[in-house]
Amino acid sequence: MKRRTEAYADFVQHPRYGKLPRVTGLHPKEDFLLGRVYLGWLARPDERVPDTAIVANTARQPNATFPVTHYFDLKRRCRDCDRPFLFFAEEQRYWYETLQFYLGVDCVRCIDCRVAERGPERGRVAVV
Ligand SMILES: [Zn+2]
Repeated sequence: MKRRTEAYADFVQHPRYGKLPRVTGLHPKEDFLLGRVYLGWLARPDERVPDTAIVANTARQPNATFPVTHYFDLKRRCRDCDRPFLFFAEEQRYWYETLQFYLGVDCVRCIDCRVAERGPERGRVAVV
């Protein structure tokens, strides 16, 4: 297994969150039927970074039929420059709870491409 810094060496550096996953030690298992843990379908299992979850404040998510209970750091590949980057758990919390983006809005472009074109919020795409 590669060391963490090597595994993420090619990832795009985010000015606020960095480039390495933020390990919290939290790794809840999906438990949709009981309603205790719902990670949302943007958090595909192969893209979740283990042990990086943070607890969501579901009351702050806008109009969520199925509120997402936890955010994980998610691996993404930029639609424009094809570089890998992380859609950080804390970034998701900011998007969905502070900026009030709909939970179906995904991050498809790295921060560099977002800033280079129209400002930091350009890279989001509503996929629902
Ligand atoms: Zn990019």
